[in-house]
Amino acid sequence: MAAGHTDVIVVGAGFAGLYAHYRLCGLGLSALGFEAAPDVGGTWYWNAYPGARCDVESLDYCYSFSPELLDDWRWSERYATQPEILRYAHHVAERFDLRRDVTFATRVVAARFDRDAALWTVETDKGDRATARFLVAAVGPLSVAKLPDFPGLEDFVGRWVMTSAWPHEPVDMADKHVALIGTGSSGIQAIPVIAEQAARLTVFQRTPNFSLPARNGPPDPAYEALARSDYAAHIQRNRASRGGVQPKYTAQPGAIEVDEAARLARYEEAWDLGGTRMQAAFRDLMSDVAANDTAADFVRGKIRAIVVDPTVAQRLSPYDHPLGTKRICLDTDYYATFNRPNVTLVDIRSEPIERIATDGIVTAAGLYPADLIVFATGFDAMTGPLLAMNIEGAGGHRLADAWADGPATYLGLMVAGFPNLFLVNGPGSPSVLCNMLVAIEQHVDWIVDAIAHLRETGRSRIEALSEAQAAWVDEVRMVADRTLYPLANSWYNGDNVPGKPRVFLPYVGGFDTYVRRCAEIVSQGYAGFRLSPA
Ligand code: FAD
Ligand code: NAP
Repeated sequence: MAAGHTDVIVVGAGFAGLYAHYRLCGLGLSALGFEAAPDVGGTWYWNAYPGARCDVESLDYCYSFSPELLDDWRWSERYATQPEILRYAHHVAERFDLRRDVTFATRVVAARFDRDAALWTVETDKGDRATARFLVAAVGPLSVAKLPDFPGLEDFVGRWVMTSAWPHEPVDMADKHVALIGTGSSGIQAIPVIAEQAARLTVFQRTPNFSLPARNGPPDPAYEALARSDYAAHIQRNRASRGGVQPKYTAQPGAIEVDEAARLARYEEAWDLGGTRMQAAFRDLMSDVAANDTAADFVRGKIRAIVVDPTVAQRLSPYDHPLGTKRICLDTDYYATFNRPNVTLVDIRSEPIERIATDGIVTAAGLYPADLIVFATGFDAMTGPLLAMNIEGAGGHRLADAWADGPATYLGLMVAGFPNLFLVNGPGSPSVLCNMLVAIEQHVDWIVDAIAHLRETGRSRIEALSEAQAAWVDEVRMVADRTLYPLANSWYNGDNVPGKPRVFLPYVGGFDTYVRRCAEIVSQGYAGFRLSPA
């Protein structure tokens, strides 16, 4: 049982928590960490499903804080698999001795701010209790899974698993009839791999998603050479970009401004080169429905060309949201998988799932037998992990009450009424719309620099002001309303969790703009924050 007092408590030991320990240690501050998983890695510990890999190129989806680390790690693929990314997390933890202060397999279940003592106290599911001046919630945006709530699941005699909590021992699929529910990024990555391993695979799709070919393979030697020739410049280009990765297209006319031949040529090129290029092909794809329709039509055309059965192709074609307004998926052979004789697609909008039976899934059209059910049904994103900590701020105010109508933060970093509580990639920051490793480093640097500043100026308390927070909340909403994002039913808006307030969660104004704002606020003496002695 860990207990005691430290300068900082860090909840979570994914990439954000690990980097927080590294920076805090560098400042000579004491830190205590708690992590629900038995080891480091966060997302990359939990989501160990077949086919899991990153969708930002690994040369960019990695830490940049240490030139030595950049030099001594080589990625084997353009988009590394989950085991390789987890090995990287272990390597970082070992190289910088970052496990030392973390208590693993321990979940923080309550966090309370004592106004008189100006201290945070956390409690864990193991009965630990610890206090600290500062609390850093590095709990991740996608770490609370939506639990399957299908009637009859308890009667199912086979095995069921979630992509978001995949077992670390092998899951035998040979000779098995697998049913998979959910066709977001996780399902779309897992389906082609499971189809190869299982005897049969039945995919239950509620909403088709746009998926683009990743064109995975070894890292692009030219890109790697460019990055390694001057890492500082490479990192700077990522940090100065809208999405934390330097854009693949710099000259971006509007989609309708060019003629059809030029437009299609660019879409063909983006499709052939792979990755998320398609979304960046023209500057107005995320702000103009007519422009977006041209890209969506192009992708639907590709689906028709790949999928042999026209009925299946039609079912796989998204029509209910503009391309990119739900997180775009990157795949390897996703659409072609539906040409395999052992794969069946079930459209659960036309035949809803009624219940899970002992031996399979029952829809309005009948029973689909299954020995193994895979739930790829997503997360209570961004707010879920924070609310699950039962946080009480100054005066006993609960975060759950403060956020009853949706999350309100200042810069996604702090919440008015919750002094000395820092969020890493909280709602209202670019977070999931960004290369998250770059976003994590920027947030942790901001937080640790703020703590250092307090120390240097003889103060020990920082709190977001309500007016500054309200203005930021308005800005987050306004920039989202200028885009097509609010048109989709998506977890970005909280739509996937029944009862969750509909608020666009991340800041879509661009990482570059956001970083400038954070820096300006600091240079103005932490404008919008109150800094005070305890
Ligand atoms: P996490 O990695 O989620 O780590 C948070 C940790 O906090 C978890 O280990 C969790 O167990 C722990 N925790 C949470 N609450 C508590 C508590 N109360 N007590 C104790 N411990 C707690 N982003 C990209 O930019 N590019 C990608 O390619 C990409 N791919 C992804 C693939 C998948 C399958 C998923 C789910 C997400 C992906 N993301 C991607 C987003 C990904 O979450 C981030 O890139 C990044 O890993 C987040 O790191 P983190 O440390 O902030 O959070
Ligand atoms: P998701 O995008 O929310 O997808 C969940 C899927 O499950 C959707 O198809 C959803 O359908 C379906 N679903 C949910 N509840 C259902 C129910 N009760 N009945 C039937 N279907 C149901 O979740 P995810 O795929 O885990 O991805 C979440 C995020 O994690 C991604 O957007 C991405 O940011 C990240 N991620 C990234 C990668 C990567 O490529 N690197 C891989 C995995 C995850 P509806 O659409 O109809 O709700």
